[in-house]
Amino acid sequence: MDELDAPLSSRLPRGKGNSKKANPAKFLSEGLGLETVRDLLWHLPRRYADRGTLTPIRDLVEGENATILAQVVKYGEPQRMRAKDGVRLVVTLGDGRDTLTMTFFAKFAGQFAHQKADLVPGALVLASGKVSKFQDVWQLSHPDYETLEDPEDGVDAVNRPIPLYPASKAAPNWLVRQSVAQLLDGLEGQLPEFLPAEVVAGADLLDPLAALRAVHAPRDEAELEAGRHRLRYEEAFVLQTALALRRASTARQRAVARTASPDGIAAAFDQRLPFPLTGSQRAVGEEIAADLARPHPMQRLLQGDVGSGKTLVALRAMLTVVDGGGQAALLAPTEVLAAQHLRSITAMLGDLAGAGTFGAHERATKVVLLTGSMGAPARRAALLAAASGEAGIVIGTHALLQEHVQFADLGFVVVDEQHRFGVEQRDALRAKGNGIPHLLVMTATPIPRTVAMTLFGDLETSVLTELPPGRADVQTVVVPQDRPAWIDRTWQRIAEEAALGRQSYVVCARIDTDDEGGEDGTPPGEGPEEEPAPDDALFEEPRPRGGKPGRPKPRPAAAVSQVVEVVRTHPATAGLRTEVLHGRLPPAEKDDVMSRFAAGEVDVVVATTVVEVGVDVPNASVMVVVDADRFGISQLHQLRGRIGRGGLPGTCLLLSGASEGSPAGQRLAALARTRDGFELARLDLEQRREGDVLGAAQSGERSSLQLLGVLRDAELVAHARAAAVTLVAADPDLSAHRPLAAAVAARVSGDTEAFLERA
Ligand code: ADP
Ligand code: MG
Repeated sequence: MDELDAPLSSRLPRGKGNSKKANPAKFLSEGLGLETVRDLLWHLPRRYADRGTLTPIRDLVEGENATILAQVVKYGEPQRMRAKDGVRLVVTLGDGRDTLTMTFFAKFAGQFAHQKADLVPGALVLASGKVSKFQDVWQLSHPDYETLEDPEDGVDAVNRPIPLYPASKAAPNWLVRQSVAQLLDGLEGQLPEFLPAEVVAGADLLDPLAALRAVHAPRDEAELEAGRHRLRYEEAFVLQTALALRRASTARQRAVARTASPDGIAAAFDQRLPFPLTGSQRAVGEEIAADLARPHPMQRLLQGDVGSGKTLVALRAMLTVVDGGGQAALLAPTEVLAAQHLRSITAMLGDLAGAGTFGAHERATKVVLLTGSMGAPARRAALLAAASGEAGIVIGTHALLQEHVQFADLGFVVVDEQHRFGVEQRDALRAKGNGIPHLLVMTATPIPRTVAMTLFGDLETSVLTELPPGRADVQTVVVPQDRPAWIDRTWQRIAEEAALGRQSYVVCARIDTDDEGGEDGTPPGEGPEEEPAPDDALFEEPRPRGGKPGRPKPRPAAAVSQVVEVVRTHPATAGLRTEVLHGRLPPAEKDDVMSRFAAGEVDVVVATTVVEVGVDVPNASVMVVVDADRFGISQLHQLRGRIGRGGLPGTCLLLSGASEGSPAGQRLAALARTRDGFELARLDLEQRREGDVLGAAQSGERSSLQLLGVLRDAELVAHARAAAVTLVAADPDLSAHRPLAAAVAARVSGDTEAFLERA
């Protein structure tokens, strides 16, 4: 691998002077931050131009650095400039429909000899520069170009895809292309295969050098595809090998086996369940019980759509651990959710949660809450209950990760509605155990299988495939926000439901009118606990590329403080009991509002997305989302999951200012069409670029996952995973696969580790 680490300056030619041609390494470094042979070889074309198809000029974006394929239409004779010394040359390019000009400056006309020879009308050029438009004339400023009529290319060059690289003024496309070609020429025999032979054969892969040649200088589409396939597969395989090794190493670690006893708390709880478990809950419960009964740490991801009953599955597992003499910790992403878990878990347990109190069940345990904003006495009591082992179940937020929190015998950690808990945080909590605790991670958002394989590839997966029976229908309607009559109808719906004794949520994008584009109420200095949805990295709407002139500033989103006034004064809803709920309220008040809402003492709660995940009030039947176009699919799906819970048919009204055809409009239409969370997750991913899905570096840094689209490459990922698992099972320390081990180590120490942290 040494050759790949060689600095470009030692491998690219160095001529006299300081031009791009004479010192390519310097310009590649300055322009694109490429320093080593590896950097340049992995600086892959963003797309390919095809000689038969010129770049449509009218689709260019002003201000953008573009590389376009066009034909010379006119070579204007150099003109002496009036204001300044020197001459100016204007060359017109065209795509057959529109034209664009390139302007060059020089001291005297003779300096344009190159241009004169190259830019003859009819010549095909790849031109790069910054796109501007002046009085309806498109221009490329600071143009740089290369002609494509290279006689050496011969006739078959006509079909060759032309690589278009991420480029810059200092390092234009031609410089990258030329430098890559020079490197590839010198690499014969220097890039040994590091994938096992059976993997290469099994996936029909080109060798590493051939693959790089195929993506940088493809002869045709088929060759390009073969090259890409190798690079993607290699990437997937190395990552999956790293994940398989991680799983294998955890599987070798010791944990305390925990089993339920026939007369223990778990059995007592099952006996008093007011409803039968769903088939999925039972099956997943058995998988989990089997894991817990082994002397190795469980590492399991539990997926299930909104309302599939994940909490119950987790609670049964926690009770099993309590039976086995251990403690369980349940980590929630927000204080609202942690408090709700405490309420619902203590309610479900009844006297089984009353350890230490008069009349408690003989098998009872104690359930405590531990959050950052608790008062000191309550906090001390909770800390003591955790440390003494008195509390069998400790529910909390990030506060549980703090160093001074101690457990007598932490046997099991449940992470609810994850995404914000990275590998590092999982480890911090596991480190509190006596041995390594078992781990169950529950996702709020359904994730397509191969995405899960990549993002949570170090975990085994269980899926709740069915919802408890009696789930009522939820009707979803997109309401145009600019139609007063429709908005009136929205408030009337809330009043109608209230008249039937049912409750409504109204969700807004921000708390107050003076919030910046704010989402949810993170009280200043209160840490990350009340941040917006846990899934925002995965599903956030891609930002428009910066600085596009003339784009109107979006209308500010309606705030809780405004909307609550509307609800309190609108003729339809004025008489209802309406409260607000958001992250900036004092914790006691949040808790009070949620408790009263849960008890049916509040008709309407106007809230931020704090109600998004996990809030469970079966009597709520209406969900109104104001400015729904500002939210991502999964967030809306989660919000909608708050209703239709108690067997009551629900109504979800998505108030939107987006036009139907816009991406936001399409997202809302999809939500109105289906309630299948997996389907929605897939749709959502399809709307996005892979970079967003993977949270890959957007800043132009090299990202290890630049090639792999987890959704597009679903089959490939699954294939690579299976191959990696087989390999690691046969050779758990890769001692027979040294070159692969080196590639895995190189990958895991850099990008991937960071990437896994973000997952
Ligand atoms: P989620 O998977 O979204 O976290 P919850 O755990 O909040 O779902 O469960 C949603 C609701 O369904 C809760 O009110 C819970 O008590 C109820 N529930 C869970 N399992 C069953 C079941 N087997 N039968 C009926 N209701 C159930
Ligand atoms: Mg839940």
